Amino acid sequence: MDHFIYKDGVLHAEGVAVTEIAASVGTPFYAYSQATLERHFRVFDEALAGMDHLICYAVKANSNIAVLKILGDLGAGMDVVSLGEYLRAKAAGVPGDRIVFSGIGKTRDEMRTVLQGGIRQFNVESEPELAVLNAVAMESGVVVPITLRVNPDVDAKTHAKIATGKSDNKFGIPIAQSRRVYAVAGAMDGIDVIGVDVHIGSQLTDLEPFRAAFLKVRELTEQLREDGHNIRRLDLGGGLGIPYAHSNEAPPLPMDYGQVIRETVGDMGCEIEIEPGRLVAGNAGIMVTSVIYNKAGEGRDFLIVDAAMNDLIRPAMYDAHHDIIPVIEPAVGVELNAVDIVGPVCETGDTFAKHRNMPPVADGGLVAFRSAGAYGAVMSSEYNTRPMIPEVLVSGDQFAVIRPRPSYDEMINRDKLPEWL
Ligand SMILES: *Cc1c(COP(=O)(O)O)cnc(C)c1O
Repeated sequence: MDHFIYKDGVLHAEGVAVTEIAASVGTPFYAYSQATLERHFRVFDEALAGMDHLICYAVKANSNIAVLKILGDLGAGMDVVSLGEYLRAKAAGVPGDRIVFSGIGKTRDEMRTVLQGGIRQFNVESEPELAVLNAVAMESGVVVPITLRVNPDVDAKTHAKIATGKSDNKFGIPIAQSRRVYAVAGAMDGIDVIGVDVHIGSQLTDLEPFRAAFLKVRELTEQLREDGHNIRRLDLGGGLGIPYAHSNEAPPLPMDYGQVIRETVGDMGCEIEIEPGRLVAGNAGIMVTSVIYNKAGEGRDFLIVDAAMNDLIRPAMYDAHHDIIPVIEPAVGVELNAVDIVGPVCETGDTFAKHRNMPPVADGGLVAFRSAGAYGAVMSSEYNTRPMIPEVLVSGDQFAVIRPRPSYDEMINRDKLPEWL
């Protein structure tokens, strides 16, 4: 459930008409619903009730500091994958002891800064990283709590670009080798081994890969305890999928995902961490765009909109589906027409949808892309020198711009001419 519904014939974000936001900020733009973000966090919190747990929101899904502050104020931790994300979480007021540092390519400089600023744990992904982290921790005079991210060799049955838990993916330490690496870590003076971490992929629409991975974590945890490690925290990653085609998709509910956690590792006396990103932010956001032209082609009609692949890359990159709806509610029984919905960028890949049945939307009319709150704005760019589109936060009947659209001067003046030109 989200808070984007038609009221009096106009799509609203909570209590605000999307037409009103468009009139104020111009198109295209992203709009997020605070109530939806809060609801999604609470759903996870309830799903893990009764277990000692921390929900570490995956910052990469939507890293606007207003979004981070909403979640941080509810008690969320943060899962970050770069120093930039760490600094965003800090800027949103999240204390270091609620921030987890993931990622396969952490640099010495990132480690040093994060250790100074405070961190809950590092999720270490390789032996070379472990050695460097130990050295940096000792130089900094601290002992750093770590988990090792293990690769359980489980097929997440999701899009190849976002599957991370198979042995041929670049992520984590092969689970078969992990006891040896744990022994290495356990002997290091700058390292405190506290747990096990796993993350098998994103947009999972089946619980069985999670169950398989968590059972492998359970087995490993038992072995590690026999080996003498004090394993007291399990980080189970993110990855729960969301419905993108609202009419015919029903991915598992967080409550059922929580039940899988309870059944597989709930009795191990460990604190449970999860790192959801997409499910928290995805359906809490829409992207709103204007139709520039209705263009009739040969045997194919096009809706050319003012948003493009640089603003929302998911369709081009992952063949992703987004529901696309007119902001003015279509009349009941209106005839639908199959159209290709495309942006203005000079690439055929700049196609949001092919042969999509749409009610008529006149030139200048508004359409909204649903489920655009995660991996939308964060993956945008200025390709074709198109300004990054603004982000707007709605709460009840109020809205605010939480990232403004840059001016053309701001964009162009970032380039510098060398003195010889
Ligand atoms: C991307 C990622 C997540 C979040 O995945 P979602 O599918 O957005 O829930 C969590 N943990 C790690 C390590 C990730 O790389």
